[in-house]
Amino acid sequence: MIIITRSGITDAEIDHIRERVESLGMRTHISRGEQRTIIGCIGDESLLHEVALLALPGVESVTPVLKPYKLVSREFVDSPSVVRVGNGATAVVGGRDLAVIAGPCSVEGRQMLFDTARTVRSYGAGLLRGGAFKPRTSPYAFQGMGQAGLHLLAEVRAETGLPVVTEVMDTRQVELVAEHADMLQVGARNMQNFALLGEVGRVQRPVLLKRGLSATIKELLMSAEYIMAQGNREVVLCERGIRTYETATRNTLDVAAIPVLKAETHLPVLVDPSHAGGRAELVAPLAFAAIAAGADGLMVEVHPNPENALSDGDQSLTFPAFRQFMERLRPFAEAAGRALAPCRVGREVAA
Ligand code: PEP
Ligand code: MN
Repeated sequence: MIIITRSGITDAEIDHIRERVESLGMRTHISRGEQRTIIGCIGDESLLHEVALLALPGVESVTPVLKPYKLVSREFVDSPSVVRVGNGATAVVGGRDLAVIAGPCSVEGRQMLFDTARTVRSYGAGLLRGGAFKPRTSPYAFQGMGQAGLHLLAEVRAETGLPVVTEVMDTRQVELVAEHADMLQVGARNMQNFALLGEVGRVQRPVLLKRGLSATIKELLMSAEYIMAQGNREVVLCERGIRTYETATRNTLDVAAIPVLKAETHLPVLVDPSHAGGRAELVAPLAFAAIAAGADGLMVEVHPNPENALSDGDQSLTFPAFRQFMERLRPFAEAAGRALAPCRVGREVAA
C-alpha cells in the first residue's frame, strides 16, 4: 500500500500515520518530496483494512500494491484452468477446444427441449443450456417451468449425453438445481448476490458466473473469489454485455474484457453474444469477435421457433441459423488456434 499525503502535511501528522500503520505490525518507508510525502507500507497489506486510512489527517490518496483477489488470480495459479462439466460424457471448458453451450433461453416444454438438444448436439455444441428459473424484468412475464423444467433437463441429458447448464436464482434452490444440473449458472442480475455466491461455492458443481449489467471486471473477479473462497474451484466467467448509453443493441459487448480477464485470471472466459447484442443477426459477428479476442467458448440461445419463444425470441437462432453459425465459426476458431467439435450430421438432416 502506498499512502500519498496532502501538501502542507505536518510532521506530527506524518508521525501519526506512521504509528497507526506500524501498530498493525507493518513497516513504513517515508519518502519526502518537495510537495508531497509518500509513505510506503511494507508487510501484510490486508491488515490495513483495519484502519480507515483516508480518514487520517493529511492523507490524500491510498493505492494498493496487491490485487484484492487471490484464488482467481494468475499469481495464484499460473496456467489456464480447465473446468470439466458433467459425468461420463464430459465437456471441457478452458482447453484447446472451444466450448459451445447452446439451447433455448427457457425450457418451455419437452418437445422443444428435446428437438433443440438433439439439433445443437448434432451441429457441434458440447453443452445444453435452458432456464427453468428465469430472472424476468416483469413479474407478469413467463417465469420459467421451475422444477418441472429441471426434470426435463435431466431427462434430455440422459438421452443426448449433453451436460446441462441452468440458472439458479435463490439460495433456497441451490441444492435442488445442483441435483439436476451439471453446471449452475449465476445470472447477470445475481452476480453480486453474495449469499447465493457463498451457497454455490459450497456445492460440488461447476459454476458459470455471468458479468453483472453494470459490474466492473474487478467486481466480476471478486464475485468469482467469493465462490472459490468457499471451496468450489470450478468457476467459469461469462462476458454477456454491459449497460452503456448505446441503445442500438440490448447491451454493449465488452470485447476488451476478454483479454483483460485472460491476463488477470486463470479461469476460463466465455462470451454470450445473444444477450450482448439482443438480436439474432448480431450473434455471429459478436461471437467471431469474441473468439478472435481469446474467449474459451460461447453461450448461444437457440429455439425451434423464435417467433413464439416465451423469452428472448428476438436474439434466438433458428436451427438452420445455428448450423450456419457453427460452420462460419470454424475458420475463426482455427485462426485463434482453437478446435471446434465437428458437425455430426449431413446437410439433409433437421431444419
Ligand atoms: C440467460 O442466460 O438467459 C440470462 C438471463 O442471462 P443474463 O443473466 O446474462 O441476463
Ligand atoms: Mn435469455
